[in-house]
Amino acid sequence: MKHTELSIEFFPPQTPEGVDKLRIVRGKLAVLKPEFFSVTFGAGGSTRDKTFSAIREIAAEGYAAAPHLSCIGSTRVNIREILQEYKTAGIRRLVALRGDLPSGMAEAGEFRYANELVEFIRNETGDHFHVEVAAYPEWHPQARSPRDDLAAFARKANAGANSAITQYFYNADAYFHFVNEVRALGVAIPITPGIMPIANFSKLARFSDACGAELPRWMRRKLEGFGDDAESIRAFGLDVVTELCERLLTGGAPGLHFYSMNQSVLTLEICRRLNLRA
Ligand SMILES: Cc1cc2nc3c(=O)[nH]c(=O)nc-3n(C[C@H](O)[C@H](O)[C@H](O)COP(=O)(O)OP(=O)(O)OC[C@H]3O[C@@H](n4cnc5c(N)ncnc54)[C@H](O)[C@@H]3O)c2cc1C
Repeated sequence: MKHTELSIEFFPPQTPEGVDKLRIVRGKLAVLKPEFFSVTFGAGGSTRDKTFSAIREIAAEGYAAAPHLSCIGSTRVNIREILQEYKTAGIRRLVALRGDLPSGMAEAGEFRYANELVEFIRNETGDHFHVEVAAYPEWHPQARSPRDDLAAFARKANAGANSAITQYFYNADAYFHFVNEVRALGVAIPITPGIMPIANFSKLARFSDACGAELPRWMRRKLEGFGDDAESIRAFGLDVVTELCERLLTGGAPGLHFYSMNQSVLTLEICRRLNLRA
């Protein structure tokens, strides 16, 4: 059995039933022995309490827990308070992001870009946290150019990020190209590919359009063609994503970060096919 660093992402459940369900999902995914479970954070602090409570529960179960922290719409005082809470709770890893301003929220706050948050975390808490940042092999949708986006990524690393997790993608070449470009800038931090298992075509298509991840035409057409046939979508998705992971690991990716969408089945099946842990 190979040792590949795995990490698994959840979103904070909104209801007590969701909390119970996630507890069960987490128990199942724990067999993969991930380096950490991470929990997303709504920009502007909209999920602050729910993120913290999921993180506390994960840590209490004895797993490494990494809260995401987005800074857009926040003040320094706000972020300082959250960092203190996490420090007190014994958290050692954060995923530091800019986030997107929720519609209706006019105030951008005191941080403009994620590199400013990374710098603030380092100034406030020294080396206490292992800081992850986001990377975009297919480029962030608001980037003025790939060159600017690479420079923005390098600024996050130079501000003190320890490692990065990518937006999901289905084109391995984009990842390898991105890593090469980053290395050419002298940035050496590990860049772990973010993996999105395929469960539902219309949701995935909508989400991909919004976040600038490309759903390649051949995949889109194939998935469209399955219509409501969930079983075929699942089977095709598992084949495509497992093959993608194989290519990434063979090509030198340091690990895999799964966007679990608070589900266990697809992540477990992909890891089983890859002969990782379970
Ligand atoms: C692994 C991962 C986890 C995520 N988790 C969450 C989450 O929990 N909550 C959430 O709300 N969102 C999350 N996101 C989404 C993320 O917040 C959005 O993609 C957001 O739009 C950008 O955040 P960032 O940290 O990458 O921003 P940045 O690194 O600040 O980049 C944002 C944009 O600004 C540009 N830029 C950076 N610096 C400058 C500059 N000085 N001048 C001009 N342009 C600049 C960049 O090129 C890019 O286009 C996640 C994304 C990833 C990949």
